Amino acid sequence: MSLPPLDDADVEVYDVAMRTRFRGIERRQGLLVRGPAGWGEWSPFLDYSGAELVPWWRACREAAGTGFPAPVRDRVPVNCTVPALDPEPASALVAGSGCRTAKVKVAEPGQTLAEDVARVGAVRDALGPDGAVRVDANGAWDVDGAERAIGLLRRYGLEYVEQPCARTEELAELRRRLARRGWDVPVAADESIRRSGDPERVVALEAADVVVLKVQPLGGVAACLELAERLGLPVVVSSALETSVGIAAGLALAAALPELPFACGLNTVPLLTDDVVDHPLRAVDGEIVLRDVRPSAERLAAVRADEATRERWLDRLRATRELDAAGSRR
Ligand SMILES: [Mg+2]
Repeated sequence: MSLPPLDDADVEVYDVAMRTRFRGIERRQGLLVRGPAGWGEWSPFLDYSGAELVPWWRACREAAGTGFPAPVRDRVPVNCTVPALDPEPASALVAGSGCRTAKVKVAEPGQTLAEDVARVGAVRDALGPDGAVRVDANGAWDVDGAERAIGLLRRYGLEYVEQPCARTEELAELRRRLARRGWDVPVAADESIRRSGDPERVVALEAADVVVLKVQPLGGVAACLELAERLGLPVVVSSALETSVGIAAGLALAAALPELPFACGLNTVPLLTDDVVDHPLRAVDGEIVLRDVRPSAERLAAVRADEATRERWLDRLRATRELDAAGSRR
């Protein structure tokens, strides 16, 4: 599964503006690698460093070096993603998406709970009673704050609340409180799975009903399939805001999982202003159909990073490959 030393021609560094500021990010940067099995994407967020970057690289070398496990389905239902917008644009985004499931960002720094309630209400109205609404707090609430927020948001019918609190122990405490109140709002673990260094703890503490798996931070499609089997909880596959090359890996995981009970968070290409392929992997009527993607020369030229950015990413990659090789030798 290893890749030889990479030629300059095998590596593209991209730099694309986000349509809306999302989780504090205004531009998305990353690197694409061409290998014997196809293209892989390596786009760890800039707040990741050191050994944390290695799983992202393993995911890239799986995609470029060996390819993905066999799929059991050829299309994947997806949610639309609603950033911390005002009610009106949030509603318009959902209505225009064609998706029957919406994931709504809540607890954005600098915003109020009233703004979350207004946004989630607008999304519920736009979807109608049959749609599914999930919210993602990215760990921003403490347990009391999460309980208060869920108390106000649950009237809109929540499919689940994703990472309401930062720590896995807090998720477990919140789940106990929700059960005591008789509130049927499932908890999904995202950061607790991919950043805590101990995903099994989510199961041991009974901290979640659903787990969110992301291919890059968890080391690739095959690694995620193994993790899903170990955890034994329903899985939602989400992206790390990749280009269509990275999304293809997420789709490969979603397509290979034995069960796929929820819509996946893989329709995030629309959050970018451009892509590296001519026909981006984005939802049509709430699902993405699996197909091979190949960057086009025109799009690569349009999104190519400037020389300084490219050098920064190549340095970051060299350091990460050294860590990866050292880890494999141990
Ligand atoms: Mg999340």
